[in-house]
Amino acid sequence: MPNTLDPSDWTTLKTLAHRMLEDMLADLEHRTDRPVWQPMPADLRARFHATLSDYPTDLAEVYEEFRQTILPYAVGNTHPGFMGWVHGGGTAVGMLAEMLASGLNANCGGRDHAPIDVERQIVRWLAKRFAFPTTASGLFVTGTSMANLIAVLIARRAALGPDSRRQGLTGSAPLVAYASTAAHACVARAMDYAGLGSDALRLIPTDAEDRLRIDALHRAIDLDRAAGRVPFLIVGSAGTVAIGAIDDLAALATVAIAHRTWFHVDGAFGALGILSPQIAPRLVGIEQADSIALDFHKWGQVPYDAGFVLVRNGTCQEDTFATTADYLSRAPRGLAAGSPWPNDLGPDLSRGFRALKTWFTLKTYGAARLGEMIDHTCRLAGDLAERIRLEPELELMAPTPLNIVCFRYRGRGHIGDATRACEAHHDQVNADIVMDLQEGGLVAPSVIRIHGRTCIRAAFFNHRTDHHHVEQLVQETLRAGRRRSHP
Ligand SMILES: *Cc1c(COP(=O)(O)O)cnc(C)c1O
Repeated sequence: MPNTLDPSDWTTLKTLAHRMLEDMLADLEHRTDRPVWQPMPADLRARFHATLSDYPTDLAEVYEEFRQTILPYAVGNTHPGFMGWVHGGGTAVGMLAEMLASGLNANCGGRDHAPIDVERQIVRWLAKRFAFPTTASGLFVTGTSMANLIAVLIARRAALGPDSRRQGLTGSAPLVAYASTAAHACVARAMDYAGLGSDALRLIPTDAEDRLRIDALHRAIDLDRAAGRVPFLIVGSAGTVAIGAIDDLAALATVAIAHRTWFHVDGAFGALGILSPQIAPRLVGIEQADSIALDFHKWGQVPYDAGFVLVRNGTCQEDTFATTADYLSRAPRGLAAGSPWPNDLGPDLSRGFRALKTWFTLKTYGAARLGEMIDHTCRLAGDLAERIRLEPELELMAPTPLNIVCFRYRGRGHIGDATRACEAHHDQVNADIVMDLQEGGLVAPSVIRIHGRTCIRAAFFNHRTDHHHVEQLVQETLRAGRRRSHP
């Protein structure tokens, strides 16, 4: 046996490789021929419990197993009927770039090589879009959960100073942060992981549009200051996960300046609204943020995963993460040149080349086209909201500022009847409708609780979704609802 893992016969490998590529492209082209999602049969699932063999399996055989047991049972976000949760649809372009990146097998933790220049170019592109200075820094990460954590760590380091990197929180006054009750739960988790505790995140109430109430923020900060606590961070949401609300970012920036706190924006999906001339004005204030977290894998349609954090003052990011270790020492020339490296800007050392699929996506489509696609998904939501208003059996449950619609099936006979038992029944009917739809395979919304009621949530993120799917969602909801409430 030769030592190398490369094939002895490249020709056979190439033939199979071309088939894989053809198959996957054909699957994307004809994605609607398969259900959005289908539950995995128990006997197939059981096959994943087989033990690891000492002996090789033919690649063609492994690929066949993928075709049968994995491909048909993925979550379904490539399908235009996928409307549950905040998932992008991906593109063939992103998939091809992912293949090229794997071929390079670049480790983007550091050293002097072109893949890191690609990442830095995207940092510059985003800095320009968000009107950040050229001294801004940024980093690809898994997702916004990680990007938010990085922002909390930078804000913590900025508040506590350099000694905190060795001494931790010893002796410091309690730090407190602020976000709205509609902020993503990962912000509280980030506070937990940062050692500050999730209780130190004050959840400020929201207005009727689900935006953080600035008056309530002032009161909360005053109370904390009076109690000797130190406000160090304000987190604004640009697109809340439940309904897509955008906080008044300019007002938050003003409060942050007045109180000398870090101002971070969780723009997981909404920040890329900057590419749409319609949405960009509603993000005003984001250009004053100290940091922004966003995901290219949501509205940006880059295949998973492609989270990103952008930091106004690059020095703050480096001050938080850079370490000195012999094996990471830098040199004026050669492979160890080109400092700072990405591993100076976040917790990861070894890192894949996430920037490439993002670079291909941004270049291939161009910023304007991506902005139009974002507008398209908002129009779909507008259409659905309008359709629900005209449909007596359905009820809109929240405003629709962007691309997310929350609604309920309320049935025919129950309008105005709001006894507790009836409410519980309706909650169950709506939860059942969502499960029915997901198992039906045509459209897949998700469930969300709004004002204590179970609602159906349609989030339009997939560029493949069209008006036809909106109508299908309405029809399928009515059909399932009627069947459930009048069995
Ligand atoms: C999706 C989302 C997150 C979490 O991002 P991940 O990429 O899933 O880690 C955080 N905040 C908001 C508003 C989101 O939509």
